[in-house]
Amino acid sequence: MITIRKLTEENELLGELLGIGITAPGPLDSSNGTILNPPNFDQWALTNVTDYFRDKFDCTVLLENNSNALALLENFYSINNQFKNFVVLNVDSGIGSGVILNGQLYKGSSGFGNDFGHMSINFHGESCRCGNIGCAELYASIPNILAFTKQINHDFADWNTIVDLALTGDIQALQVIEKEAFYLSVIITNIMNILDVETIIFAGDLTYHSSLLIDLVETQVNQQIIARMVKQVNIISSSITYEAPVLSSANLILEHFLKGLSH
Ligand SMILES: [Zn+2]
Repeated sequence: MITIRKLTEENELLGELLGIGITAPGPLDSSNGTILNPPNFDQWALTNVTDYFRDKFDCTVLLENNSNALALLENFYSINNQFKNFVVLNVDSGIGSGVILNGQLYKGSSGFGNDFGHMSINFHGESCRCGNIGCAELYASIPNILAFTKQINHDFADWNTIVDLALTGDIQALQVIEKEAFYLSVIITNIMNILDVETIIFAGDLTYHSSLLIDLVETQVNQQIIARMVKQVNIISSSITYEAPVLSSANLILEHFLKGLSH
């Protein structure tokens, strides 16, 4: 808030703010601007952030799930002319996802219809904090794949190091990449069989030198999807790696403004 105040005052823009876009990990209720109960952010539980900023700055304030916002940004700036149906798979400390169908963000009837990180991929698996069992996030999120790496090599401390080593041909690092590729291929096959989108966009930590991982996942997915006789899926890495959260937050307001002009 201090930064917004400073920017508006220094540039004499008080009262001229187009709006404030806020993105956060889910679950959240974007319809009334409330962060619900995100893991690792307990202090934000049931906080209405849009009312707070609207009171301070008297402008439009929008809250959106960070993966939805990234999907909107990809749709608006990056690949809108190329694809109208795609899923952004945002893998870091958890797994978020954003779904664009026919050029529009799809959120389901209550705003939770795109949470592929909580798709069960093991019904004998552990209980997840979301209430489900064996969720994809419990296997393929970066902390969980790093937990697996400890069984192979205690020196593997972070994802980027493992990717770098795998690209040099390190056998143990390749094992880790293959394990992640296996999990992702199960998740993406399920997504493809339900939504039949044109492409999947990797975001988050997966974008780091992603060619090896993408090759492995594409090969497996294209052997598994129902539509394999008529199509092959090309997975791509997000081109928006610089300041993606800031850009996607600002884009919420810009899109909202442009929609207002067209009505
Ligand atoms: Zn879950």
